[in-house]
Amino acid sequence: MSNDSLRAAAQELFPGGVNSPVRSFRSVGGGPVPIVRGEGGHVYDADGARYIDFLGAFGPLLLGHAHPDVVAAIQRAAAGGTAFGALTPGEVELGRRVLEATGLERLRFVNSGTEATMTAIRLARAATGRDVIVKFDGCYHGHSDGLLVKAGSGVATMGLSDSAGVPAAIAALTAVLPYNDPAALAGWFRAHPDDTAAVIVEPVAGNMGLVAPTPAFVAALQEIPRAHGALLIADEVITGFRLRYGLSGLLPEADLVCLGKIIGGGLPVGAFGGRRELMSLIAPEGPVYQAGTLSGNPLVMATGIATLDALAGGVPYRRAEELARHFENGLLAAVKRSEGMAAVVRIGSMLTVFFRDTPPADYAQARESDTAAFAHFHRGMLERGVLLPPSQFETWFVSAAHTEADIDAAVRAAHEALRETALQAMAR
Ligand SMILES: *Cc1c(COP(=O)(O)O)cnc(C)c1O
Repeated sequence: MSNDSLRAAAQELFPGGVNSPVRSFRSVGGGPVPIVRGEGGHVYDADGARYIDFLGAFGPLLLGHAHPDVVAAIQRAAAGGTAFGALTPGEVELGRRVLEATGLERLRFVNSGTEATMTAIRLARAATGRDVIVKFDGCYHGHSDGLLVKAGSGVATMGLSDSAGVPAAIAALTAVLPYNDPAALAGWFRAHPDDTAAVIVEPVAGNMGLVAPTPAFVAALQEIPRAHGALLIADEVITGFRLRYGLSGLLPEADLVCLGKIIGGGLPVGAFGGRRELMSLIAPEGPVYQAGTLSGNPLVMATGIATLDALAGGVPYRRAEELARHFENGLLAAVKRSEGMAAVVRIGSMLTVFFRDTPPADYAQARESDTAAFAHFHRGMLERGVLLPPSQFETWFVSAAHTEADIDAAVRAAHEALRETALQAMAR
């Protein structure tokens, strides 16, 4: 089947022709790109076109596509049966590796990041006997009801949901504050000292485009909630095992940590963990119910183990980061030469090019980006064989399987696409 016939068929099957909204490419136009195969740093669409892939399945593929050790591990596991609904050795193996690398004392595996954050919040509410959750504007923590809420206008507001179908009574339990604003966090707790069960945060924001936390924000996160009896939940679904082997290290004082993406190496996974006493509130040890038919699935565990084994020595981190730095430098030079306006943000092997003059500090600033320019640039890159996440507000992922030649080719493509974008912006 061709790209067009797949798109048309999917349109008859799924809302918007996709099974997750960003894949529709609505914010950049042009429709979804159906991918039939991936290898290393590349993917191939149904028409046979090859792309250098910086979408990276939205984060899990630090080793790139179809890493031979990962593929072999899945094949071995599958040959022994795909699900048992019972304790399996793979869970023990991967659980031990994750605890050793993160310093968490107890863990539970689930099937997605959404499940991990949803359950961490249930646990925080049970542990504190409080209902209110604080999140930050532009941070994404999966699609459970209470987390699909963002702020109004940079001022702390009790939430209005981003999604239809979320009861107002649930949205009202989520407060949304601006990212990187310690004063807003302090102000929240001054006004509501005893209501908040937990503050949930991405240590590095990856879902408003890439936004770095300021040291003052990190310090406030670790002090203020605790001083008021609230828990701190670090959502490391992207950053866990991405910035280095283990947690990001930015929020060592977090009470609960959510993981996903890389620990499943591209299969569906999530996990949450923390101190033993806190985690003992989870069923069957404690009263907080959580369960999953396929949680700790043997294929997923085998993929995670093979992935962490390949990452453990640190070589892929150094390689991916070196390539990302090379990419960043090339992009900065391309921006300068194209005389357009764009800011390049890089942290480790993650990058975003924002179509605004300076790197944003929060979602309000990120949203000031010229999204029409991003859409134009995205199409220009796609035409030149470079697949980027299809939104201004996503992070690009460099893998250890990319090559210098990939980065050089992507920089050349960016130079041309930026020049076209700048010309087009002048014409607007
Ligand atoms: C991807 C993501 C999630 C949700 O994970 P899913 O597996 O898509 O449910 C949660 N938090 C963050 C920070 C993420 O990037």
